[in-house]
Amino acid sequence: MMHSRNWIGGEWTTPQEGETAVSNPSDIKEQVGVIHLSGASDVFQAEQAARNAFPGWSRLTGAQRGEILLRMAAALEAERDGLAELASREMGKPIAEMKGEVTRGVNLLKYYAAEGVRAFGNVIPSNESHVLQYTRRVPLGVVGIITPWNFPVAIPIWKLAPALICGNTVVWKPAEFACLTATRIAEIFAKTELPPGVVNLIIGKGSKVGQALLSECRIDAVSFTGSSATGAGVAEICAKRNIKYQTEMGGKNAAVVLGDADLERAVPAIVSGAFRSAGQKCTATSRIIVERSAAPAFREALRKAMSGIRIAHALDPSAYLGPVASASQYETVMSFVDLARKDAETVAECGGGGASIEHDGYYVTPLAVSGVGDGHPLVQEEIFGPVAVVLEAEDVSHAIDLCNKTVYGLSASVFTQNLSSALRFLDEAEAGMVRVNLETAGVEYQAPFGGMKQSSSHTREQGQAALDFYSAVKTCAIKYGG
Ligand code: NAD
Repeated sequence: MMHSRNWIGGEWTTPQEGETAVSNPSDIKEQVGVIHLSGASDVFQAEQAARNAFPGWSRLTGAQRGEILLRMAAALEAERDGLAELASREMGKPIAEMKGEVTRGVNLLKYYAAEGVRAFGNVIPSNESHVLQYTRRVPLGVVGIITPWNFPVAIPIWKLAPALICGNTVVWKPAEFACLTATRIAEIFAKTELPPGVVNLIIGKGSKVGQALLSECRIDAVSFTGSSATGAGVAEICAKRNIKYQTEMGGKNAAVVLGDADLERAVPAIVSGAFRSAGQKCTATSRIIVERSAAPAFREALRKAMSGIRIAHALDPSAYLGPVASASQYETVMSFVDLARKDAETVAECGGGGASIEHDGYYVTPLAVSGVGDGHPLVQEEIFGPVAVVLEAEDVSHAIDLCNKTVYGLSASVFTQNLSSALRFLDEAEAGMVRVNLETAGVEYQAPFGGMKQSSSHTREQGQAALDFYSAVKTCAIKYGG
C-alpha cells in the first residue's frame, strides 16, 4: 500500500497533521494507500526550500535547464505504465486514457525543454543614437502550483514544465484525490538531476495548506486549476497581494450539431466528449445543441451509440468510462441525475448491453436528457459527470445564442459541412477554444489552452502562451560609444 509523502528541499518527510485512507473508486473495498496531511509549518519549509534553490536554478542557462527537463521526460516515460496504473486506481480514469495522459506529460516536458534555447525578446529601435534597447524574459521567483484531481499527471506537468524552463522554482500542492499519484511523480523526478528544492511537493487540504501557501507565504505567483468557486477566492487573495496569478476553472461546454452535420462523425465525437473520463474534464461536452431539422436523426444515432458504451473498472483496458473519482463527486453528480429524472426526459442512456458494473464503486450511468428550459440548472451549472443535456435550436443564429448563454467560456464545437456556418461559429462562439467537427475536449499541448468569461482569469496555459505567464518582461537599454 502506498503512502503519500512531502518532498521538500530534496528530502522526503511524512507530515503529521492527520491521515486519510484512499479507496479505489472502481472498487471501494480496495484500499490503495494512505494520505498524510501537512500543516502550515510544512508549507513554510517548502517555500523556504524553493526560495533557497531559486538563485542556482535561475542562473543556469536555458540549455542546462532544458537538459534536466529532458531527463525528467525520460524518467517519466520509463515509468509510464506503473504511474498510469496508480492514477487509475486512485481516481478512476480508465487505464488506456491514463497511459495517454502520462505520454502527454512526457511530450510537455520535451516541448518545454526545447524552449530553453529558443530566442525570446526583441531588439527595439531607440529614439536616441548609440542606444541598444531590447527586451528579455526573467523568471518570477517562487511559483505556487495548485492542481485538481481530474488530470493528475498532465495538469501538474503543464504547469511545472514551463515554470521550470523559465527559471522559476515551485511549491506544488496537488488535490486530495490525486496525492498518491503526485507523490509517485515526485519520486520519479527525484531520480533525475533536478537540484534539491527546485520542485517541492506539499500534501494536504486546500482549505489548510492551499490557504497557507496563498495567504502566509511570500510566493511570487500562483497557477491554479480547479473549480470556479475556489478559483475566485485564489484570484481575490492574489489580486490583494498584487502577485501574478492564473486561474483556470470550470466549463459548461456546448457541441452544436447543425442540420447538415455528418452524424456518423458528429455522434462518436460528442459521445466521447461527454462521457469519456466519466464527464470529468473541464472541456467535457455538457450541452448538446441540435438544429431542429437534424434532431430526430441525431437522437436516434445518439441512442444507438450510447447503448454500446462500456462502463467498467478503470483497470479494464476496454472500459470506455470508469467510475467518478470519489464519494463526494458521486454525491454531487447523483444529485444532478436525480434532478434530471425529476425535471427532464431521457433521450438516451447507457445500458443496452454495453454496461458491465461488476464492482462496488462510484459508477454513474451515462445519461442524455432534454425537455428543460435554457435557464435550468442542468443547462447552466457544471455537473462534472457523465450527464449531458440536449437543447433544440431553430437555426444557426439561435444555436450560437444558446451556446453563448452561459457564464462559462472554455470550449465549444460545431458539427457542420458548411464553411460559412463553421467560420461564423468560430467568430461568434464565446469560448477560449473553438472547434469544427472535433469534440470539445482534446486540445493539444503545443496550442494555448484556456477559457473566456468565468472559465479563466484570461491568461493561457500550454504552448508558447505559458511562457508569458511564467516570466516577466524586462526592457533593457544600453548607451554605448562616445
Ligand atoms: P477544487 O477547486 O475543489 O480544487 C482544486 C485545487 O484547489 C485542489 O488542489 C484543492 O485542494 C485546492 N483548494 C481547495 N480549496 C482551496 C483554498 N481555499 N485555497 C487554496 N487551494 C484550495 O477543484 P477540483 O474538484 O479538484 O477539480 C475540478 C474542477 O476543476 C472542475 O470545476 C473543473 O472544471 C476544473 N478544471 C478546470 C480545468 C481548466 O483548465 N479550466 C482543467 C481541469 C479541471
